[in-house]
Amino acid sequence: MPTLHLLGTGAAASDPHRTTTMLAFAGNATDSDVAGSDVSSEDAAGHASSALLVDCGGDALQRYRQAGLDPGALDAVVLTHEHPDHVGGFPLLMERLWLGGRERPLPVCGIAQALTQAERLFDAFDTSGWDGMPEIRWREVSYEEGAPVFENDAWRVTAAPVEHAKPTVGLRAEHSPSGRVVAYSCDTAPTPSVARLAEGADVLVHEATGDMDGHSSAEQAAEVAAEASAGRLLLAHLPPDLTDADLSAARSRFERTEAGAERGRYPF
Ligand SMILES: [Zn+2]
Ligand SMILES: [Zn+2]
Repeated sequence: MPTLHLLGTGAAASDPHRTTTMLAFAGNATDSDVAGSDVSSEDAAGHASSALLVDCGGDALQRYRQAGLDPGALDAVVLTHEHPDHVGGFPLLMERLWLGGRERPLPVCGIAQALTQAERLFDAFDTSGWDGMPEIRWREVSYEEGAPVFENDAWRVTAAPVEHAKPTVGLRAEHSPSGRVVAYSCDTAPTPSVARLAEGADVLVHEATGDMDGHSSAEQAAEVAAEASAGRLLLAHLPPDLTDADLSAARSRFERTEAGAERGRYPF
């Protein structure tokens, strides 16, 4: 069974309990739930053979490892947009991967603006002495609905533009062996493109920063989840002052709504 990890669930505003919103999708290349499968399921420590990291505004690798995920299983990083709370930790991520002994190339996928920002940040540092640093393979994603982002034996990820202050994409990740789907709105005002990304998804992670330009309230996020007929809604990119009333309002629109837990682990 694939697992969604909410490595961080906060908005850009500083919060004593939540770091920036960062996600990991972890799963095996073969469906461990299929009877007769001769490939072992996640081992006792929950190690999956393939993991994807979405955004790195904070210390992403620390949270990734805290989640019990293996840096060696990190098959790609997806960057949703250029804002600091989504890409600001990219040079640190690379430094930590390099120091951890990673040698194989790292695909970094995103729309042009997100990749340019990450490249600029990384170029601010002199890495000429980083012997054996893994090669970064920049993979530009087209800014259109249904754009392919990344595919391997475990995952098939597509993107769609959403409505934010800067060009931004939401994601749909299908765990190919099981057909299970997780969708992520990223930073956005309520938009039908997220409802389409999340159509029939087992879990939708939707931002709930608040009812303001380029963002959504918890209630608006719940309306999108209902529109998409998602199985479950996890709110992320949460403001420090999210209230029980906000959650109740959301649940009145979509009952299976929860505030995403910082470092939450969600098999789906
Ligand atoms: Zn943003
Ligand atoms: Zn943000």
